[in-house]
Amino acid sequence: MSDQPSRAHVLAVLEAVKDPKSGKGLVSAGLVQALVVATGRAGFMMEVEAGDGPLYAPVRDAAEAALKTVAGVERAQVALTADREPAPAPGVVRVRRGGADPAHDHSGHDPHGHAHDHGHAAQHRPAAPAAQQPVVAGKPAHVHHVLAVASGKGGVGKSTVAVNLAVALARLGLSVGLLDADVYGPSIPQMTGARDEPKQAGGKLQPLEAWGLKIMSIGLLVDEAAPMIWRGPMASSALNQLLNDVAWGSEAEPLDVLVIDMPPGTGDIQLTLAQRVQLSGAVVVSTPQDVALIDVRRGVSMFEKTRVPILGVIENMAYFPDPTTGEPIEIFGRGGAQATAKALGAPFLGEVPIDPKLRESCDAGRPYVLEAPDSPASRAIMTAAMQVAASLIQGDGLKPPPRIVIEQ
Ligand code: ADP
Repeated sequence: MSDQPSRAHVLAVLEAVKDPKSGKGLVSAGLVQALVVATGRAGFMMEVEAGDGPLYAPVRDAAEAALKTVAGVERAQVALTADREPAPAPGVVRVRRGGADPAHDHSGHDPHGHAHDHGHAAQHRPAAPAAQQPVVAGKPAHVHHVLAVASGKGGVGKSTVAVNLAVALARLGLSVGLLDADVYGPSIPQMTGARDEPKQAGGKLQPLEAWGLKIMSIGLLVDEAAPMIWRGPMASSALNQLLNDVAWGSEAEPLDVLVIDMPPGTGDIQLTLAQRVQLSGAVVVSTPQDVALIDVRRGVSMFEKTRVPILGVIENMAYFPDPTTGEPIEIFGRGGAQATAKALGAPFLGEVPIDPKLRESCDAGRPYVLEAPDSPASRAIMTAAMQVAASLIQGDGLKPPPRIVIEQ
């Protein structure tokens, strides 16, 4: 297996390639976006103004050739897109329905002129000794904690857990936002019934409000019928906008926790997100099947790589309660996620049983922890939420009033 290429080296060789317009190196010219440096490969997105494609095609080729000179880079990919409009005026947030790219603010600044794309900013220091570290990540303004809900693969109930965990945290007295970042299949609008077109105010998109949560979904910004075919860097750019150009919190009403329903898997989009956002922690959702558990290990190692603490593993669809006795029927085998969590040194946050009513309630857009708070599934999620809240508040003075007592 090849070694991880040096990020500093990658940045240095890219800086040596010149931007034909400004004469600066590509990094200084801000043309290296969503840079991914991983074992065996490196790549980034180069977005130039519409019409500049032919001018930059040789630059892309030169950049790819330069990347391949770095030890450990076998594959180099530079995605050149020439559809950038001239830089928008500060404070402009563009929303497109039916378009493939809602994220066109490449200024890297919020409406107040503060740099928010810290990954991008970090790329302007090619020779910095810290360049081997993950890029410096930031948090959206007035958001205390950002929590990722992740899974190694799709279909394990990640979104279901994200919605109910967010509502459970709100029931504990926290002010909570829910960001649906699942570019492959945004399901939060369906699961919460929050489907209105988000409005703009003060240069920011206003999140929708439902079930005590502030909600924003990538699915609200594009035509639902349009297939979600996002190129990785484009998706990362859209997510960046969803984080930073949405009024999640304000000085008067800061958000305690922003829960992100991550895209499933451990690819570049996930990695970029984990690198760019200053995550307080991640909750990993898995089913008991072996394949899902293997993927969990991958997910956990991704967060380890980006130094994001794993707040715990939730086993979903852990067992099927016997319809008459309520006794667990273990259809997939049980305890695998618990064992995996232990082996990984991550806390086990509990097991959520298979509950057909949970699925119905999800499909109907009603969070189950409110619909059936006494069900074993809801109790499991409430208990997990209490552990997550406890991890988040540890040492930072954010104390949710314990309004709910869970009777086991
Ligand atoms: P993911 O986000 O991992 O792709 P979803 O949250 O969309 O998964 O869940 C996939 C399907 O499984 C949905 O129809 C959901 O209602 C259902 N589901 C999730 N968890 C449970 C559960 N514990 N019991 C029954 N159905 C569940």
